[in-house]
Amino acid sequence: MCGIIGSIGVKNAVPVLLKGLERLEYRGYDSAGICVVTNNSLVVIKKTGKVAELAAHSAISSLKDTTIGIAHTRWATHGKPSEENAHPHLDCKGEIAIVHNGIIENYHKLKNELEEKGHVFRSETDSEIVAHLIEYYYNGNLERAVIMALKKVEGAFGLAVMHKSEKSIVAARRGSPLVLGISDGAMFVASDVSALLDYTSRVIYLDDNEVATLTSKSYTIKTLEGNMIRSRAVQEIDWNIDKIEKRGYKHFMLKEILEQPISIEKVLQNRIINNRILLDIKIDINTLKRLYIVACGTSWHAALEGKYIIERIAGIPVEVDYASEFRYRNPLFIKGDAIIAISQSGETADTLAAIRLAKEKSLPIISIVNVVGSGIARNSDSVIYLNAGPEIGVASTKAFTAQIMALVLFALYIKQERNDIADNEILNSLKVINCSIKEVLKSREEIKKIADEIYASRDALYLGRGMQFPVALEGALKLKEISYIHAEGYPAAEMKHGPIALVEEGTPVIALAMEDVLHEKMISNIQEVKARKGKVIAITDSQSLRVSSLADRVIKVPKVLDILSPIVTSIPLQLLAYYAAVKRGIDVDKPRNLAKSVTVE
Ligand code: GLU
Repeated sequence: MCGIIGSIGVKNAVPVLLKGLERLEYRGYDSAGICVVTNNSLVVIKKTGKVAELAAHSAISSLKDTTIGIAHTRWATHGKPSEENAHPHLDCKGEIAIVHNGIIENYHKLKNELEEKGHVFRSETDSEIVAHLIEYYYNGNLERAVIMALKKVEGAFGLAVMHKSEKSIVAARRGSPLVLGISDGAMFVASDVSALLDYTSRVIYLDDNEVATLTSKSYTIKTLEGNMIRSRAVQEIDWNIDKIEKRGYKHFMLKEILEQPISIEKVLQNRIINNRILLDIKIDINTLKRLYIVACGTSWHAALEGKYIIERIAGIPVEVDYASEFRYRNPLFIKGDAIIAISQSGETADTLAAIRLAKEKSLPIISIVNVVGSGIARNSDSVIYLNAGPEIGVASTKAFTAQIMALVLFALYIKQERNDIADNEILNSLKVINCSIKEVLKSREEIKKIADEIYASRDALYLGRGMQFPVALEGALKLKEISYIHAEGYPAAEMKHGPIALVEEGTPVIALAMEDVLHEKMISNIQEVKARKGKVIAITDSQSLRVSSLADRVIKVPKVLDILSPIVTSIPLQLLAYYAAVKRGIDVDKPRNLAKSVTVE
């Protein structure tokens, strides 16, 4: 969600900033802007729409030999997407520029106070108050003014600030991610490492309530209390640019769907030795009585699968919560509770807040995240990294299947630690699941044809039972987020309690009809849809003719162990959504209104 990049010390900051913004595009945004210092004054150029449109702006080419600059892609929260509301924002005198990610919750009060003091605002954003507040405190020392201003601010921020006459960039964070990039003769700040990889692989993640001051040759990090932090480790990032390029694929989403045989394998790498699970879990598994899984969006669907997986394999009760609900509903904890937080980016604002709440209550926290060093990882007692590689497509695909793998591993680990029993059947199936995924991916063309038949639909229904119910939710989410077709996922039995009213002639109903204990019941539900002339697209591993004679279209998936089936059934639904969206002409990697990393509440 929104992107920040700042650079100081490079020969020409403009192309560096534009490239950085391009790398951050996947996070989701509606407008972009840049500010650099030339001839001792700040020049701001902003544009609604894409970074490419900003780069094509006539004023951009005249900006040469600028060594300091900050830039931003905005995902509007306060005020419409417009040039005035786009960042960077300036103070009254045009001497201080800021870019901000997050929400200033007390902006209204601060704005009134500043207006009373004579400050004039040019935008509708909450962010602009930060520029004026810093102006109010500025007396020749930018870092000091930023610290004083931020003490007044409530809410979440990732910020980069510069003053026309100070050869520095001041960056600060609370709640929204920021990472510093270190190289010889130049320093960078960005919302995530993908914006920095073209220039350096040495990074420092800022923690909440920290302020960093960058010059071309040095950096300092302080707390908002003013205490210097002397020993912050510089991390070496082992991703390379190649991993965040499309490499010939039309979209990142397709590349990431097709990468799943590999990303799945990565979750297992070095974690199963002689059929023993090795995880770096720092809590005493034997004290566990109940687990809460907290997550948002697709990760929440993985969490629902986690309930089936952990309860079945490890025999521990699991509660699943939307992180945003968990944090505000005063959950009741008992001794032996622990939290599992699931997030691809590791920066999801609500999930981060949920684990902070759990931390206050002294609950052990285990997180399942993809991005190494992210906020959620750093705030957890133990982390299970997905190791799935960067996921750039806004619609999560390979992270979802990797999350399910990680949950299976964790469930097996609990069983092993508590009873010293290795579940060889599951372990052996895990090791060969990538072959089944390759098998599923062979149906691409067939799925594309089905997508061509349904892409113009107004509604679609996804039905599943048991472990296929969260898959139905995830399939529906995929379709709506990238194709904008209204889609609902339901436990198949619930269809009769409402959604069946949507079914009319030709309405696509995607039925997850695996040959499991609920197979017969699912077949009855398919009959009910057919009786209303719905168009049934069945995903099945059944060899019998019953499903295929009833359904209008059948997507066959290989038979795998029941507990691993969501991995093979979710992939055809990813492809179906992808091809339907492409057919509708939608920019699949950047669907409207969506952000990859949701860093605001
Ligand atoms: N709340 C700010 C705005 O609406 C920042 C949004 C963002 O994170 O991009 O301008």
